[in-house]
Amino acid sequence: MKAKEAPFWETKTLEELSSEEWESLCDDCAKCCLHKLEDVDSGVVYYTNVVCRYLDMDTGLCTDYEHRHELVPDCVFLTPEMVRNVNWLPKSCAYRRIAEGKGLAWWHHLISGDENSVRMAGISILGKAVSEDEVDLADLEDMVVNWFE
Ligand code: SF4
Repeated sequence: MKAKEAPFWETKTLEELSSEEWESLCDDCAKCCLHKLEDVDSGVVYYTNVVCRYLDMDTGLCTDYEHRHELVPDCVFLTPEMVRNVNWLPKSCAYRRIAEGKGLAWWHHLISGDENSVRMAGISILGKAVSEDEVDLADLEDMVVNWFE
């Protein structure tokens, strides 16, 4: 009998992933689509509950992923190097977990086989965040949250 092959996220580094594998690693939690504030003195980054207007609040997906950089010039284009160096990716982020050698969590769709498990586990921002279209961005400091890491 042939031994079962280990999945790609256990055998490859982030740098070795194909673009299809890379994209499939995202769990669509949308935490990185939240507005963040950085303390200029300490460098600490705080998350708010305000999310990019282009996030689909039903699916947690970008409504124009292909053109997101044209629509939002500072929308981050994650790279392996960035994953290893930025201080704002949440601990739950699949890329960060892989970079830290933690593997994927039970609720990741590649483990559970269910795209909804990220929501069921309370990892997704859906149901907790508001669109930037519905708030005054001048009030962001009042919308800092600590409901996830
Ligand atoms: S935080 Fe990580 S896993 Fe979540 S949406 Fe962003 S890139 Fe994907």
